[in-house]
Amino acid sequence: MALPPDLHMHTPLCRHARGEPVDYARRAVELGFTEIGFSDHSPMRQNDFDDWRMRFDQLDEYVENVRKAQSAFPQLTIRLALEVDYLPGQEEWIRELAARHPWDYFIGSVHYVSDTWAVDNPHQLSEWKSRDAWEVWSVYFDRLTMAAETGLFEIIGHADLPKKFGHKPTRDCAPLYERFLNAAKKMNCALDVNTAGLRKDCKEIYPSRQILERAFKKEVPITFGSDAHAPEEVGMNFAEAMKLARGVGYRECTRFVRRRREMIRI
Ligand SMILES: [Zn+2]
Ligand SMILES: [Zn+2]
Repeated sequence: MALPPDLHMHTPLCRHARGEPVDYARRAVELGFTEIGFSDHSPMRQNDFDDWRMRFDQLDEYVENVRKAQSAFPQLTIRLALEVDYLPGQEEWIRELAARHPWDYFIGSVHYVSDTWAVDNPHQLSEWKSRDAWEVWSVYFDRLTMAAETGLFEIIGHADLPKKFGHKPTRDCAPLYERFLNAAKKMNCALDVNTAGLRKDCKEIYPSRQILERAFKKEVPITFGSDAHAPEEVGMNFAEAMKLARGVGYRECTRFVRRRREMIRI
């Protein structure tokens, strides 16, 4: 079976990935991919916001590095994208970024549930000790819903990221999922079926089967992403991700060309 595009991968400019875009592209060709997309962590307006993204003055270099991979592997379609952090109030900045290059898509991701705490940051793991899991998940899904509602993103990244280290509320999260998925459907956002979770403590694809089942019922489209931070992670566990997606009923996934959606059979 043909592999769907791997639309979520990083580059060393974000300071926690290794291998240049040409190395990811080479790996993708070896695995039989016909399409991939780079979506490195976008810069913030303030370069010292945190230490796990490119600086704003590296944005052009990022685009050049992706272009180099495109020239080196003409048989592979390589999309140009960003994984953009959504925090309330960042909308104007995100519009400025969008205007700077001919992007194929933006993945909107929530990592921050406050101005300073990214729930998936292993260096901030101790924060979880002083927080109630339900409260974190509620704030996270509020922000994810807001991200979808902005209309700034084609894809919403790893929708249940707070499960990364295994922190799950005992309360039923269905109302949080429901609100978020309604916003995603209304604004035409696809869900990133992201295999990185399988490589983390939670040992689960993002998002969970429960979320994907609800998404399928509402006809929310999906994309696939390895969230590769190293060339050998390209396309990792895609067989499992496709099995999950097909298992809940999906027969199509999505790709984006200059921010326009196209459907592909899976
Ligand atoms: Zn990363
Ligand atoms: Zn992310």
